[in-house]
Amino acid sequence: MKRYIDNDSVREFRRLVTKAGNVLIISHINPDGDAVGSVSAVKSYLFAMGIHSTVILPNRYPDYLEFLDNKDPFKIYSENPSEIIKLADSADLIIAVDFNKLERVDELESHILSSKADKILIDHHPHPDRESFSLIISQTEVSSTCELLFWLFKEIEDECGKIDKDVAVSLYTGMMTDTNNFSNSVSSSTFLMASDLLDRGVDKEYLQHMVFGGFSVSRMRLMGHVLLNKMVIIPDYCASYIVLTKKEMESFGFSEGDSEGFVNMPLNIKGVNIAALFTETDSHIRVSLRSTDDFSVNRLSALHFNGGGHERAAGGKLYIPVEKAGEYFEKSLRESFLLCKGVKTEKSQE
Ligand code: 5GP
Ligand code: MN
Repeated sequence: MKRYIDNDSVREFRRLVTKAGNVLIISHINPDGDAVGSVSAVKSYLFAMGIHSTVILPNRYPDYLEFLDNKDPFKIYSENPSEIIKLADSADLIIAVDFNKLERVDELESHILSSKADKILIDHHPHPDRESFSLIISQTEVSSTCELLFWLFKEIEDECGKIDKDVAVSLYTGMMTDTNNFSNSVSSSTFLMASDLLDRGVDKEYLQHMVFGGFSVSRMRLMGHVLLNKMVIIPDYCASYIVLTKKEMESFGFSEGDSEGFVNMPLNIKGVNIAALFTETDSHIRVSLRSTDDFSVNRLSALHFNGGGHERAAGGKLYIPVEKAGEYFEKSLRESFLLCKGVKTEKSQE
């Protein structure tokens, strides 16, 4: 099997971690399963090495991931910024996981940049920010950051640390959520990882239930509403979109994470290869984009939605009235399809 991490990076990771006394582990805003699985796995792995660490997230993670936050609770920047700023200033090592650019930590960015700590980035998105980190372990061929961490830990486990059950559960959860339960970006190495983690005591039925089951009544009813009333199909572009306003989310008793996975639902329709979910927040519209063919939503997001991600899963932000989101999406597709056919160049769009 191909090795994902070179010897020098493994050695440097081990060196930086073993000399550190005060480690911060961070991930991106609106943390998903891979982000929370990754911070939790790194924390537990360092714990097994006898190294104390603190997890900091820019804002709260969805409730269904709470089972990964089981010791020394994660600190949430938006809930207590001044405490977090002090922590960032006193850290001697910062390990960032599951994002490629520091702007993804939102308001935390300037505090991470000004910290004197060594900084490591471990991630699977394209084009990592090489300026801001002393060590970058970046690999786009893996399913998830959790898979990359698994292969990193496997490299050093004989000499330091241990992939114990806590680490295994976190890694499995992150991989399972980022691949949408083994449907996207999975390769033979992902199955090798899953097999190894099962041997270490992961209860896959329990995790399946925690992540893809155990829904609240409000989430289930919102899902019904979305499928019946809100899913729009654009046959010309083999696409579909859903717009959720703040008002309707409130009327369904929405809590963070309740719309998780909604963006994937239209992709189950024969002939739909591109899907978008727009959710209104106080300050902007959150954008989630997916594709199941060669259409790059990473590019679509960079061009039209102030964001990025992977070729087939990306996200971004929109600053327009929510009623205009569907129309804007359709226009962005029209322009991208013209671009694909070579009618318009990226330059002439500006
Ligand atoms: P999701 O749709 O699940 O929120 O995000 C899908 C992918 O896009 C994830 O890999 C996530 O890291 C990335 N992503 C989501 N929002 C943004 C954003 O605002 N900017 C960038 N660069 N990437 C994003
Ligand atoms: Mn990820």
